[in-house]
Amino acid sequence: MMLNYDAPLYRPPSEARSLIFQVTLGCSFNECSFCDMYRSKEYSERTWDEIKAEIDMMANYLPDTRRVFLADGDALNLDSEFMIKIIKYIKEKFAKLERISCYAMPMNILKKTPEELKKMNEAGLDMFYLGIESGSDIVLKKVTRCYCKDNNKISQQGQRSRLHNVMYDNFGIGWKNIFQRTHQRYCRSD
Ligand code: SF4
Repeated sequence: MMLNYDAPLYRPPSEARSLIFQVTLGCSFNECSFCDMYRSKEYSERTWDEIKAEIDMMANYLPDTRRVFLADGDALNLDSEFMIKIIKYIKEKFAKLERISCYAMPMNILKKTPEELKKMNEAGLDMFYLGIESGSDIVLKKVTRCYCKDNNKISQQGQRSRLHNVMYDNFGIGWKNIFQRTHQRYCRSD
């Protein structure tokens, strides 16, 4: 039995064995010049009835599921209470679950309070994958990446809420000198 996914569907390589639920479709930003992953989709959020029906169906079909990944491009954009409702329900339906994760972008984290992130973690969200792409503000501005001055701060905010986060860096963006500055910035311990 297969879920009727809305293509294209992406997930991190480390989620290859995870059960994927599309709780949002597309990317709420969708303007990065280097990314056409979701250009064919308009961002939308799926309804509780749609999400619940899929969780119920897969709980019957794959009750031993250990990992769940919430797609699409930035599921963490969902309203916190709604996200918590989804996470709690998944935890309730899959008794052997070990991990729930999702993609996030910096603006998703900045829009949430540390308390909201902590509540999500307590509900069962273990990890988010954050695309930082570059540590250079110049590069980020040029590629129209939702501009963010301090990705380290965002990562720390996630960590304070006990959410693990994997940060993606796009090594191809920027020039040699900016590349060096970028990595000096991320190698700092502060
Ligand atoms: S935020 Fe991520 S998914 Fe959205 S356009 Fe940018 S790189 Fe692509």
